[in-house]
Amino acid sequence: MGQNEEMTAAIAAVRAASKVCRAVQARLVTAETLEKKDKSPVTVADFASQAIVAAMLSESLGGLVMVGEEDSGELRDGSQPELLAAITREVGGVMGRDISDADVLDWIDLGGADGSGERYWTLDPIDGTKGFLRGEQYAVALGLIEGGQVIAGVLGCPNLPDPAGGTGALFTATAGGPARLLTLEGDDNDGTEVRVNDVATPSEARFCESVESGHSNQGESAEIASRLGITAEPYRIDSQCKYGAVARGDASIYLRMPTRADYVEKIWDHAAGKIVVESAGGRVTDADGNDLDFGQGAGLSQNSGVVATSGRIHDEVIDAVKAVRGSG
Ligand code: AMP
Ligand code: MG
Repeated sequence: MGQNEEMTAAIAAVRAASKVCRAVQARLVTAETLEKKDKSPVTVADFASQAIVAAMLSESLGGLVMVGEEDSGELRDGSQPELLAAITREVGGVMGRDISDADVLDWIDLGGADGSGERYWTLDPIDGTKGFLRGEQYAVALGLIEGGQVIAGVLGCPNLPDPAGGTGALFTATAGGPARLLTLEGDDNDGTEVRVNDVATPSEARFCESVESGHSNQGESAEIASRLGITAEPYRIDSQCKYGAVARGDASIYLRMPTRADYVEKIWDHAAGKIVVESAGGRVTDADGNDLDFGQGAGLSQNSGVVATSGRIHDEVIDAVKAVRGSG
């Protein structure tokens, strides 16, 4: 299977999944769901997104090994028939044919690989669920890993501005190739090449980080920024959209500082974003400046935190991170 064929299938799958996420988010952002803190809509979109990506990839490529964030366990016990019916409805709408609950459950479980193989996809069907629920940014993130390296990525960002002035951006990258920015809708797979904003000194950089203080230590990143002479306010944005922001120059640094020593980052939270930034000319390491090790199964167990930059400033940023964390 050629890489071109795989990228074409991956782009179509992420576009289709994004369509469902968008439709569900549009219905969910009502006072009622927000007040009740009702999370079921995101659950529908999350499972539907994974089922769609798995179904489309496996059908186009004739099989699939994938480490997906979701599994069908809670849907199979029969306790939530309405939830499963809602997911099947969404998936059927996109697949354009009659499908059964059983099809959907089986597609979700195509994402059940453990990452011990030589070559596999990894999917976060909705990265940034908190952003999704707030009506803000989220991503559909699909990466391809071979021999412990990310070799391709497709990152759908349904609420980021698109190149033509609309809404919905899709980043693609393959190892050694340029990063590309496509529209989320339509069928143009070439788009335009994007490059990082490769600032010469950290003080010129804008940095981005999680909206959620539970996912990244914002106090520490403020100290790092201050040490680097950065005066601009942090650009807080949910999901792997942060990698997209660095890849296309909206920011030049992405800091993800651990909030606890034992948290292990998941491969699906970083695979697509990492290769998009690297293909755009940037660098991605952990907080100690080590390469992210995608050869350890579903977790980045050899790494702690993530630092992505536009490139030239990377070592200086890592020095500041180490100084602030007391590991320099
Ligand atoms: P973000 O939108 O960048 O804040 O990241 C969302 C992701 O953070 C989710 O997909 C979770 O897998 C991940 N996450 C959950 N808890 C933590 C944590 N304590 N530290 C870092 N990431 C986390
Ligand atoms: Mg995630």
